[in-house]
Amino acid sequence: MHHFQYRGNTLFCEDIPIGTIAEAVGTPFYLYSHATLTQHFRAFDGAFEGMNHVTCFSMKSNSNQAILNLFAREGGGVDIVSGGELYRALKAGVDPGKIVYSGVGKRAEDLEYAVKSDILMFNTESSQEILRLNEVAGKLGKKARVGIRVNPDVDPQTHPYISTGLKENKFGIDIRKAPEEYTRAAGMENLLVSGISCHIGSQLTLLSPFVDTLSRLKDLIQELDRAGIHIEYLDLGGGLGITYDQEEPPHPKEYAGAIREGLGKNDLVLILEPGRVIMGNAGILVTKVLYTKATDEKRFIIVDAAMNDLIRPTLYGSFHGIQPVDDSGRDKFKADIVGPICETGDYLARDREVEAFEPGELMAVMSAGAYGFSMSSTYNSRPRVAEVMVKGDQYYIIRARETYEDLVRGEMIPDFLR
Ligand SMILES: *Cc1c(COP(=O)(O)O)cnc(C)c1O
Repeated sequence: MHHFQYRGNTLFCEDIPIGTIAEAVGTPFYLYSHATLTQHFRAFDGAFEGMNHVTCFSMKSNSNQAILNLFAREGGGVDIVSGGELYRALKAGVDPGKIVYSGVGKRAEDLEYAVKSDILMFNTESSQEILRLNEVAGKLGKKARVGIRVNPDVDPQTHPYISTGLKENKFGIDIRKAPEEYTRAAGMENLLVSGISCHIGSQLTLLSPFVDTLSRLKDLIQELDRAGIHIEYLDLGGGLGITYDQEEPPHPKEYAGAIREGLGKNDLVLILEPGRVIMGNAGILVTKVLYTKATDEKRFIIVDAAMNDLIRPTLYGSFHGIQPVDDSGRDKFKADIVGPICETGDYLARDREVEAFEPGELMAVMSAGAYGFSMSSTYNSRPRVAEVMVKGDQYYIIRARETYEDLVRGEMIPDFLR
C-alpha cells in the first residue's frame, strides 16, 4: 500500500494535492512519500524479526541523502557499489559498521577509502580483487573483513539485463571455485574471512530462485566449515520484485518466511540488500503535458520529462503506470507518452490506454522511486530534475533542480582555443 491516492478526482501524496507541489517547484520532479518509505522499510526489516540480521538498503536504487538518512534512523545500513556511494552514505549518517561493498570493478583507491572507513564487509568478486584488497589493507596496516560473492548459477526468471546469478553473467565467483578462493583468502595476512554473499537478479516475482540459492550457499558454508573456515555473515543480496503492472510478487513476510525455513537453526548473521522493494512504489515522477499530436498511425502525448529523467522504459522495456493528477473521468485513447529528447527511444510508455490528456495537464508516472533519479543523466543538456519528499501535509525539497550553470560546471576551454 502506498500513499499516492485519489481524493475525489485529485491525486494526493499523503495529505497534499500533487498539483500544489507542482505549482511551487515546477515540473518535472520526483516525489517520494515519507510514510510509504517508512512503512516499506519496516515491513521488510520487521519480517526478519527474531533473526539476527542487518537490512542494508541497496543505495544504487536511490542515493538521495534524505532517504539514506531516513533508513539509517530506522536502523538500516547500505549496500554500496562505488566510492561515491560510500561518500554519500557516510555523509548521510549511515553507520560504517553496517555497510557492505559489492561490485566487480572496485578500484584500489575505492578499496582504500572503504578499508579506512572500517566498513562491515567487502563482497569480493574475483581472485585478483581479493589479492588487491589484501594488498591495500596491508599498506594501511589493517585487516579487512572479506566475503566472496558467489555465482550460484540460478535462473532468477527475470529480465536478462537484471539477471546476475547465471554462470554467463560477469558477477561473482563460480560457486564451484569458491572453496579454493576461500582457502587462499584465509591464508592472507590482512584479510579476515567473514562472509559469503550473492545477488542473483532484480525484480524477482518467485521465491524458488531465492530458496535454491540459499540451499546452495548453505552447502558451501558447511563445506567451508569442514575445512576450518568459519562463515559469520550470510548476505543474500536483494532482488525482491514489486507490482508495476499486474505482477504478484511475494510479500516480504513470505520472502522472510521462506528464508527462515530454508536456513534452519544456526548462528549466521543475515545481511539483506533490498532496493526496489522498498523504494519502487514509494516514489513517482510528475511531469507536465506539453503537446499532443496524432499521425495516421499513432497518437503522441509529449511531456516535459524524458528518457534522461527515467530511462527504465527504454532500457528494460519496463512498465510504469500513467495516471492523471486530475482525473475528471474523461474518455481514454491509446497513445505513446514521449519526451522532448531527440531519440526514438525516448518514451515513458508505448501504446498505452490513457486519459485524453490535454496540454498543460499534470501526469504521474508511477512506481518510479527506484532506479529513477539515480539512473538519470543530463543528456540533451537537460538539468536533472528536483526531488521532493512529502511528510503528512508538508513537502520538502530534498534535491534542488539543477541549473544551466550546473550543466557546465567543471568544463574548461583550453587557452589555445581562446
Ligand atoms: C542492485 C543490487 C541490489 C538491489 O537489488 P533490488 O532488485 O533493487 O533489490 C542488491 N545487491 C546488489 C549486489 C546489487 O547489485
